[in-house]
Amino acid sequence: MAVMVTGGAGYIGSHMAWRLVEAGEQVVVVDRLSAGFDWAVPAAAELIVADIADQDQVEAAMRRHGVDAVIHFAGSVIVPESVADPLAYYRNNTVASRSLIESAVRSGVSNFIFSSTAAVYGSPAAIPVREDAPLLPESPYGTSKLMTELMLRDAAAAHDLRYAALRYFNVAGADPEGRSGQSTESPTHLIKIAAEAATGKRPGLSVFGTDYPTPDGTCIRDYIHVSDLVDAHYLALQRLRAGGGNLVANCGYGRGHSVLEVIDAVKRVAGRDFPVEFQDRRAGDAVAIVADAGLARRELGWSPRYDDLETIVGHALRWEEILRSRNTAAPMRRDVVAGAPPRPSAKAPT
Ligand code: UDP
Repeated sequence: MAVMVTGGAGYIGSHMAWRLVEAGEQVVVVDRLSAGFDWAVPAAAELIVADIADQDQVEAAMRRHGVDAVIHFAGSVIVPESVADPLAYYRNNTVASRSLIESAVRSGVSNFIFSSTAAVYGSPAAIPVREDAPLLPESPYGTSKLMTELMLRDAAAAHDLRYAALRYFNVAGADPEGRSGQSTESPTHLIKIAAEAATGKRPGLSVFGTDYPTPDGTCIRDYIHVSDLVDAHYLALQRLRAGGGNLVANCGYGRGHSVLEVIDAVKRVAGRDFPVEFQDRRAGDAVAIVADAGLARRELGWSPRYDDLETIVGHALRWEEILRSRNTAAPMRRDVVAGAPPRPSAKAPT
């Protein structure tokens, strides 16, 4: 029995791989390393450098390892990029997921956990937003994820397949043990950018829009710690393996913070100030998105451990320091499967 983690060299996927290894699971990571890093994958996991749409490699790995569950993170995640290049998002997210689901069905893998997103709701008419709210994505990114949810629903009705689709709100923070974190070289997400500003990696940051109908005029989001998020996946895995029903559930804390509150928290926790400039609204930003997180708590028994903005920010800040110091120190991995393409440098990004 083994768990296949797609995108397991990326931000959330690598936290998942560590969580599974800690739980004693056999873990097979499939990642083409277009955005992930081989050093982010725990040494106890096998890393297969491949595209998830490469059905020959994926199905061979499923059979070789006796995979009984797939946790699927691989995909593209930048909303403005999806607006500029929608067909790339439908290829990377929707079409590749279709191949992966088919590979699972063909290989007798009956449990599937999918990383969906709050972007399937678009701008919810009311917050907190429940899972039965209208699904009106406002970007190709959100649509590409919703289409995968629908494929899973239909495939699960037709085949021996159970699934959980977890709709993430704003994922942030880093592994409390300092083993992984958000490492992308061109981040767009607020807490990562603010952590870079606080640690001197960038001169400051811009606030996009101060005239929203919120108490301080800036957008409100529900920030969830990446370790709590992967815990929800682990509980979903246990539910599916025990024969539990399909589940589509929000993953957030049910509490919103404004952009200015986040920036204040980063400055306070870091003990450092940095310049902030105020700009016009960023295209496509919803005013406020906050989860109704009751379903995941009830159905999964999920009980978040890091539900605190300062804790999330503190872990994000520590990861920036770790990234900086490990830049020349990361060892090369040795257990990449034969025949895989050569790996890029094991150096962490600067
Ligand atoms: N934001 C900002 N400055 C930045 C990055 C983000 O003001 O440099 C704002 C963004 O406009 C949004 C909120 O922070 O209102 C959260 O954006 P993020 O990109 O982190 O996540 P999203 O909710 O778009 O997925």
